[in-house]
Amino acid sequence: MTEDERRAATKLVQAGRRKDWTHLESGGGVVNPPVWRASTILYDNTAALKAGLSTNEDGKLFYGRRGTPTQWSLADALTELEPGAVGTMLFPSGAAAVAMALTSVLKSGDHLLMVDSAYDPTRRLCDAYLAQRGVTTTYYDPLIGAEIEALIQPDTRAIFMESPGSLTFEVQDIPAIVAVAKKRALVTLIDNTWATPLYLPAIAMGVDLSIIACTKYIVGHSDAMIGSVTSGPDTWSDLRLTGQVLGQHVGPDDAWLALRGLRTLDVRMARHRDSALEIAHWLRARPEVGAVLHPALPECPGHEFFQRDFLGSSGLFSFTLGRGNADAFVDALQHFGIGYSWGGFESLALPANPARCRSVNPWRGPPVIRLQIGLENVRDLIDDLHQAFSAI
Ligand SMILES: *Cc1c(COP(=O)(O)O)cnc(C)c1O
Repeated sequence: MTEDERRAATKLVQAGRRKDWTHLESGGGVVNPPVWRASTILYDNTAALKAGLSTNEDGKLFYGRRGTPTQWSLADALTELEPGAVGTMLFPSGAAAVAMALTSVLKSGDHLLMVDSAYDPTRRLCDAYLAQRGVTTTYYDPLIGAEIEALIQPDTRAIFMESPGSLTFEVQDIPAIVAVAKKRALVTLIDNTWATPLYLPAIAMGVDLSIIACTKYIVGHSDAMIGSVTSGPDTWSDLRLTGQVLGQHVGPDDAWLALRGLRTLDVRMARHRDSALEIAHWLRARPEVGAVLHPALPECPGHEFFQRDFLGSSGLFSFTLGRGNADAFVDALQHFGIGYSWGGFESLALPANPARCRSVNPWRGPPVIRLQIGLENVRDLIDDLHQAFSAI
């Protein structure tokens, strides 16, 4: 059976568990590649030392910074999950993964097209860091589709997508944008943290670089930070070089936690998806609620692209209040933690104002309440939301 005939849930169980990473030559093995902690790698002799310097091969012990079977196993598994991908680089956070992916593609004098609904720290990277280093950014409407071609300049090098968008959940027409990019020889990147390759196989759709904040659903337990960039064939060597020369490294304990999380991604995502959908529908029927921003609801901008391209939805969405104060509502919740990040087993609520981080399509609505729906019993969560409405 070839790799791509296995379904994603099977890959999640099997991927990255190569026998030479789990088994002893003398016989027997363990299920999970162990945590290999390393800086120095010991060579058998000087000939092996010299051979290591000249090859720079993946999957060979060289020096701690290049990783050990623990990190290789995670990178391998993430590559296997994206059909069509050739490799994955790991980074110490999702923000580092975004920064390294863009750095691997852009140089001074280049122009970048960035979606207006991008994660706020990604915007800050463009405005506060890349701009000082000669890279200009134009923000575009998340619903622009093929009309993005009109924004391409002679020095445009890349198009960055994030779908659905942070806080406001607009879904992009990825195939239309990829088609324009291919025609104009531009590189495409996507922040695929929300759907993960399980629900959006981005590389198979022709995107060059698929970025995940593994901190969220891959780790899944709110106790480690990791980012990854999985690459198609054309961008892999630049991505790998950039990660290596800029000294990027992920500790083996964190890689191991991400691998442990990855094994249960399919079942966790199914629960996140189902509970979030149930709560989104319940909220939509509440008289206190203004809008529910969930890609699987028909009123969500870009819903038709969600229906066409995604294999599922995850546990993060937003809503607005038609009346009442968002902060007071969040403070009244008992089962929802208040805090940044998401994708763990526990529910979170966050009041946020998208107006702070939009430039093309100003946000004119009230602040949103972003919910991360965790793995608790969904009735308990709905009861809690119900009592918070009564409290305000
Ligand atoms: C959280 C997040 C990131 C950054 O990940 P960290 O691991 O927190 O640095 C990037 N993109 C999106 C969409 C995110 O939600």
